Parts: sequence; structure tokens; C-alpha cells
Amino acid sequence: MANVKKLLVSTEVTIGLDLFCWNNWIPLKVNVFGWRCLQNRLATLVELARRKIIPDSKACPMCGCRLETSEHLFTSCIVACLVWHNISTWCKIPQIFVFSLKDIFDLHKFIPNSNRRMRIFQSIVLIACWCIWQARNKRIYEEENVDVQKIVRQIKSYSFLWIKARSRR
Ligand SMILES: [Zn+2]
Repeated sequence: MANVKKLLVSTEVTIGLDLFCWNNWIPLKVNVFGWRCLQNRLATLVELARRKIIPDSKACPMCGCRLETSEHLFTSCIVACLVWHNISTWCKIPQIFVFSLKDIFDLHKFIPNSNRRMRIFQSIVLIACWCIWQARNKRIYEEENVDVQKIVRQIKSYSFLWIKARSRR
């Protein structure tokens, strides 16, 4: 993990490195994904259009209601709202409401009483964003239907697998 941070620092992409809480209970690829997400560096349809890789910005492939920005995908999209609702219930915490990418990556700071619980919850939040992004990719590239319960099952199964293996508990 330290090597990756060093690598990122050695390139020009250092903005916000300190804002992102790196978590070694989950795979590096999920941390890097989370960090890219927080920097608004994911290749969403709006970003691809901005870089002239596709001609026009397109609607969110999950709900079809708004342009696909990172903020929409992980905060206001109905799929994200349902995922956060399910996670609130699963983790037995008050209903999650997020309005910005920063809100998502700060969520764990509101978990009281224990650093361990905070770290577990941060892992789950990162895994949730990762699974939403995977479902979004499958919707775009494989035309797979969006199934919120399937996304939630994946979040739970990755959470058990990764956190159990790495936290040694
Ligand atoms: Zn949407």
C-alpha cells in the first residue's frame, strides 16, 4: 500500500491523496478505484464526452434519468439510493443520505465507539462503490439488467471474503 502511495505521489496525480483513507483490509484495486472516484477521475459517460472520446454526454445507464457523472452514479441515482438503504439496514445504522462524493468517503467517520467498526464500515462503503461500478459496466458493455439485490449480495459476499481474510478476525 505504501508503495502505491509513493508511486501516485511520484506522478502528477497527487491531489487529495491525504483526503482518502487508504484501507488495507480490502484489495489495492478497490482502494485505487475509491481514490479515483473521490478525485472524479472515473471514465463516466460525461467524462468521456468531455475528453471527446464519445460525441455526447449520455444518460445514466442504470436509471436513464440524469447525465452519468460519478456524483450521480454513487449518490442520487435510484440504484445507489437503494444500495445505501440496504447497507444501512444490514449494518444497523441510521439511514444513509449522501449528496456528494466526499460525503460517501466520510461516512465511516460517523461510526461511533470503535476504530475497528469504523474500518469495517469504510471497507463496506468502498466495496459498495466498487460493486455499483461493476454493475454499471455490465449494464453498458454486456447489456445486463440492473438488479439491486444482486449488487447487495455481491457487496456482502466481497465484504465477508476480503475483510475476514485481511483483518484476521
Ligand atoms: Zn442513475
